[in-house]
Amino acid sequence: MTMNSVSSAMDQPAPDVPSDSMTSRDYYADSYAHFGIHEEMLKDNVRTGSYRAAILNNSHLFKGKTVLDVGCGTGILSMFAAKAGASLVVGVDMSNIIDQAQKIIEANGFKDTIVLVKGKLEEVQLPIAQFDIIISEWMGYFLLYESMLDTVLDARDRYLKPGGLIFPDNARLYIAAIEDQDYKEEKINFWDNVYGFDYSCIKDIALREPLVDTVELKAVVTDPCVIKHINLLTVKKEDLAFTAPFALTATRNDYIHAFLAWFDIFFECTHKKIQFSTGPHAPYTHWKQTVFYTPSTITINEGQKLVGNLSCAPNARNNRDLDISVSFKLNTEDEATKVDYKMCVILPYRCHDGPLCQMGIRR
Ligand code: SAH
Repeated sequence: MTMNSVSSAMDQPAPDVPSDSMTSRDYYADSYAHFGIHEEMLKDNVRTGSYRAAILNNSHLFKGKTVLDVGCGTGILSMFAAKAGASLVVGVDMSNIIDQAQKIIEANGFKDTIVLVKGKLEEVQLPIAQFDIIISEWMGYFLLYESMLDTVLDARDRYLKPGGLIFPDNARLYIAAIEDQDYKEEKINFWDNVYGFDYSCIKDIALREPLVDTVELKAVVTDPCVIKHINLLTVKKEDLAFTAPFALTATRNDYIHAFLAWFDIFFECTHKKIQFSTGPHAPYTHWKQTVFYTPSTITINEGQKLVGNLSCAPNARNNRDLDISVSFKLNTEDEATKVDYKMCVILPYRCHDGPLCQMGIRR
């Protein structure tokens, strides 16, 4: 899944108009309707290839089984499941892209195995009451941005047979610290002096907005630390608001300008285990990594520890936004620094890094 630009619009059922006659206003309201966002996800070979391997290399788990595809988009995961031998696949999506998915499954000869249902998973009627397997690609930036995991948990609690499987079934969120002088200068300190004027009020706002971007492994100054493990079979909605401690040990003498977060995804119920990472050590994915700048630069020596807590919760007013706060200190210090960040809505099609613009790696 990728970032949705207009969160409030996602809460409305998609207007029932054929998507090939949609206006740009409709696309704005239903950002998953445009093929560009699906192009970006389908071309993310780490993402789509991992799902394909998890499903097709484990066809013994799918043979003769019923499968629910939560947020089927263009139907790609439904078709993998049908190809793996599922007896019935039900794909649900609230976006008008599902009209194209219908044509795609017909064009590929899956009309008898895959049934598509348009609407919000939480509201639609499904043709059968219980499924053997749930498949879904629900992950957002920083794993939890966009909160579509709630929808998958809802599907699990209402439609998964006891002992049923979820693809993927585990996720881990990590944090580390990075040296990022040059880019912090460009993105944050830029506001100190704009054509000779003091714009520093914006600096504070910019700092609180996590940046989704690719970071090179050589920028990472500490060991990583797991801050959240999610087992999709057992996690509850309440567990997705959490506070987690971390301790990051410096791997060299350097400066720290930001925290960096990423996630790994696991298909652990499979015989041939499949997993992928969105970390700085792994190949590019459209999720990139998430950067949280610190107000001041930290000097750290090899072996020294940066300790703290990260809290994350859906925003009270808009539950698709995330409130994230990080408090931290060197293990030699008494006072911790606390910064409140907010991950929120950005422009349609993800503006500078979206499929309608050039995708660039900044370093
Ligand atoms: N499974 C596809 C698409 C993933 S993007 C693929 O892997 O390529 C996530 C999709 O979930 C989007 O198409 C979005 O419209 C849909 N979606 C998000 N929340 C939903 C909900 N509550 N009910 C139904 N569909 C939802």
